[in-house]
Amino acid sequence: MNRTKDSSTSLRIAIQKSGRLTDKTVSLLQGIGIDFDNYKRNLMVKTRNFDVELLLLRDDDIPEYVQDGVCDLGFVGANVTYESRADVKVLRGLNYGKCRLSLAAPKNGNIKTPQDFDGKTVATSYPNLTRSFFEEQGVNIKIVGISGAVEIAPQLEVADAIVDLVSTGGTLRANGLEELDTILESETQLIQTNMELSPGKKQLIEKFLVRIDGYQQAKKSRYIMLNAPESAVEDIKAIIPSMRSPTVVPLAEDDMVAIHTVIPLNEFWVVMEELKATGASDIVMLPIESMIL
Ligand code: ATP
Ligand code: ZN
Repeated sequence: MNRTKDSSTSLRIAIQKSGRLTDKTVSLLQGIGIDFDNYKRNLMVKTRNFDVELLLLRDDDIPEYVQDGVCDLGFVGANVTYESRADVKVLRGLNYGKCRLSLAAPKNGNIKTPQDFDGKTVATSYPNLTRSFFEEQGVNIKIVGISGAVEIAPQLEVADAIVDLVSTGGTLRANGLEELDTILESETQLIQTNMELSPGKKQLIEKFLVRIDGYQQAKKSRYIMLNAPESAVEDIKAIIPSMRSPTVVPLAEDDMVAIHTVIPLNEFWVVMEELKATGASDIVMLPIESMIL
């Protein structure tokens, strides 16, 4: 099927059918108002209110499907896309599914730096990324490709060391391995095909991105409300790094005002202390569903 002269407008989006990325991707899609059901049972689901079809795939297949234009967009880990070497555009990093591709070797052994890997055998499910990393370092290794349970390869004497995905490092430690270096910091990305898309689809992608950016911004922000003496308003304005000037509403009580604004989540606790010191009280923080700037 030649999809390069694509005149349909329904966007086809690939997501992981069942795995670590599925729930968060589904929440993101639902969070930006894309409504669908039965994704657990079907390979393809139509959405009700946005012109989108979801294709549920193994994550390893997503970059190629997007490269070939079978899907227009895909949600997949950077680790998978870069290992696949698929020719796709990365539209957004999505701040979930975070992990790193790391070198690890037996804690009690004598491999401690990437240079110590010279002449060694390395087990991994990421042969391309591993090979490139060691080539850049000028280190010769032999790769054993393994698709799962890579961390037990040294105990089984299948390999001297491994390259594997790590999030907390607990699995490595439980297997007597020590993390030595990181090849790639990974997160889920939104990728797009490089095939030519119809104007209708391009427009839909623009809309889709506005929603995603709004959702991401909202996740990082909190709506705060507080009461304060009117005399403290100038001090409070100086403390709150809000996106616009805060809303200040007079209260029935004499000389008191309510202040509403949006602040970055990571500044909330710092700012809160400072706000209390100005005489602010009844400070309420609320999550935000979406924010279109
Ligand atoms: P599939 O059946 O779709 O092939 P899988 O078993 O290959 O699934 P998962 O284990 O569900 O994949 O992981 C999917 C993605 O989650 C990884 O490719 C990676 O981007 C991300 N991830 C985050 N933390 C970890 C981790 N600790 N280990 C493995 N993957 C992680
Ligand atoms: Zn996979």
